[in-house]
Amino acid sequence: MRAMVLHAPGEPLELEERPVPEPGPGQVLLRVEACGVCRTDLHVVDGELTEPTLPLVPGHQIVGVVEDGRRLGVPWLGWTCGHCRYCRAGRENLCEAARFTGYDLDGGYADYAVADERFCFPVPPRFADVQAAPLLCAGLIGYRSLRMTGDAERLGLYGFGAAAHIVAQVARHEGRRLFGFVRRGDEAAAAFARELGCEWAGPSDGPAPEELDAAIVFAPAGELVPAALSVLARGGVVVCAGIHMSDIPSFPYELLWQERVVRSVANLTRRDGIEFLELAPQVPVRTEVEEFPLERANEALDRLRRGEVRGAAVLRM
Ligand SMILES: [Zn+2]
Ligand SMILES: [Zn+2]
Repeated sequence: MRAMVLHAPGEPLELEERPVPEPGPGQVLLRVEACGVCRTDLHVVDGELTEPTLPLVPGHQIVGVVEDGRRLGVPWLGWTCGHCRYCRAGRENLCEAARFTGYDLDGGYADYAVADERFCFPVPPRFADVQAAPLLCAGLIGYRSLRMTGDAERLGLYGFGAAAHIVAQVARHEGRRLFGFVRRGDEAAAAFARELGCEWAGPSDGPAPEELDAAIVFAPAGELVPAALSVLARGGVVVCAGIHMSDIPSFPYELLWQERVVRSVANLTRRDGIEFLELAPQVPVRTEVEEFPLERANEALDRLRRGEVRGAAVLRM
């Protein structure tokens, strides 16, 4: 089979011929149809996440078909121990021994992948392979982030990439009011935010038209955290949705005072996946994707790094 392989962080992936992987106990072998390209993949390839299993096949938004014809989605959470205090408390996203797809375990930038069946999700029939792939991380983590905002009515989204473009649709479906924050001067992103239901879109370093109840920061830029705090109403929450972020600059306590909260969101639980994949067809979420053939994975990553992808990038096998 063909696979795009990371040998050393900071280097491009290499196209290689590899034997089709053998499924171990409890695993399924999937013929990969599509695999989403996530910002986390970029953090792995660029070495900002420092402990990948090398050599590594990245990719954790896999839509694949098992030999018996079932179509399954493979997310970032690839395995958990099942007995640590987090697993036992229904917080398997925090499992200390967790293994992640496309990081600890080979992922979906390949013609075939193996996955622990207990962590796979059935893909809703409504979605074509390529449209479904971004649901598996951008959608799922976005959904978890949205839940962390409680019942916030006025919601700010910082960074209008793959996750925000899905969350915006879910949030509108829930009747929330949306405000999109984009890089100053990025008119295309502002227009995209408005298309997706933001009643206002403007630069992320500027003021909001009114106080917001919550903000989700998808962009990996630490300076957005105090920026987001500064537009929140009392008791509002800033949710940091990414796995990596540049340092957060110091800020006056006044921005946090009045019970404002800053928190992160880590990984996903299988319950998040089941809930979100049930909800997505009801919205219905429409993912906007830019397709790349497998062998052009480096180009997809480059475009994502430069912020040039509209919606989500997806590899098609
Ligand atoms: Zn555990
Ligand atoms: Zn991801």
